[in-house]
Amino acid sequence: MSAFCAVLVAAGQGTRFGMSKQFVSLAGKPVLRWSAEALLRAGAAPLLVVVAPGQEETCQTALQGLEGYRVVAGGPSRHDSVRSGLAALGADAPDLVLIHDAARPLLDAPVIEAVLGALEAAPAALPALPLTDTIKRAADGRVIETVPRDQLWRAQTPQGFHRHALMTALAAWSGDDPSDEVRVMEDAGHAVALVPGSARLLKLTHQEDLAMAEALVPRITLTGQGLDAHRWGPGESVWLCGVEIDHHQSLIGHSDADAGLHALTDAILGALGDGDIGDHFPPTDPRWKGAASDQFLVHALERLRARGGALVNVDVTLVCEQPRIKPHRAAMRQRLSELLGLDLARVSVKATTMEGMGFTGRGEGLFAQAIATITLPA
Ligand code: MG
Repeated sequence: MSAFCAVLVAAGQGTRFGMSKQFVSLAGKPVLRWSAEALLRAGAAPLLVVVAPGQEETCQTALQGLEGYRVVAGGPSRHDSVRSGLAALGADAPDLVLIHDAARPLLDAPVIEAVLGALEAAPAALPALPLTDTIKRAADGRVIETVPRDQLWRAQTPQGFHRHALMTALAAWSGDDPSDEVRVMEDAGHAVALVPGSARLLKLTHQEDLAMAEALVPRITLTGQGLDAHRWGPGESVWLCGVEIDHHQSLIGHSDADAGLHALTDAILGALGDGDIGDHFPPTDPRWKGAASDQFLVHALERLRARGGALVNVDVTLVCEQPRIKPHRAAMRQRLSELLGLDLARVSVKATTMEGMGFTGRGEGLFAQAIATITLPA
């Protein structure tokens, strides 16, 4: 594939979206990071990311850890921003340039390859989708006519150009700000090639588009398990699955010794491949002495959400001869459902005894096991 550079336009104010959508989280990653990663992965060098003046630092934070990009401040319109990006590319940048809107985060390699491929034969190329709906021209709520759609296409980005041809066409352009740069090439009489676009390349325009994009992110399902045991000792109550139960003994531990919540926290961390509860909350740390264990669970959940993850279901089993768990099961499920923000139907709490056998059978301690299923962006 030929060497190419890229301009990622992320300077929009998000008037219709209600905020700067390029920094909103999409499946755990800022919207503009999706395209930046796709372009860098495809080999864009350099990549110029154009943001509204004053948003440079926010952009650096959103792209933390990536290499090969530079951030430049754009202008009042999209077209001004594209010009800022092109001007900042430098003379030694490759001749082929892709211009992409950050508002189209789900950019896949095949689209990039198709646009670059078309530039071998044409000075400009863009991905586009044919219209499938019947198109009506209307005014004041009444149809004027049905418009033949066989020659109509929905233009997407990235749009690709031979940079020197584009710069020449831009210098000669005297009209208002064009809605895209292909328009400038059309006007200059250049051939513009169409390549197949992608339905996944939808543009985030309104808030509800974000949910649609989320649904288009490929996800994988992972499962984790957690085990925990605590010893019985003197006390008057026991904490299990976030519920305090009157009992003639307590479980002994550095925190509140809620073995159910500990097992469940480890199950979520296990699904994430993110260590165990002891890594995140060392028992040697005095901060966690007597601590309520729901904060451990909430912490694991935050780690999950930061990765764009979602919890599918949890299943906890408590193993003890006493206390009887059944009378408290509904309260435990309810508490877990609240802590996890998970529908009650996806929260299970079960209990069993070991019929007098082993350490739980002898009443030395309580054992808990949990399984959590999650999804993560693939
Ligand atoms: Mg424990």
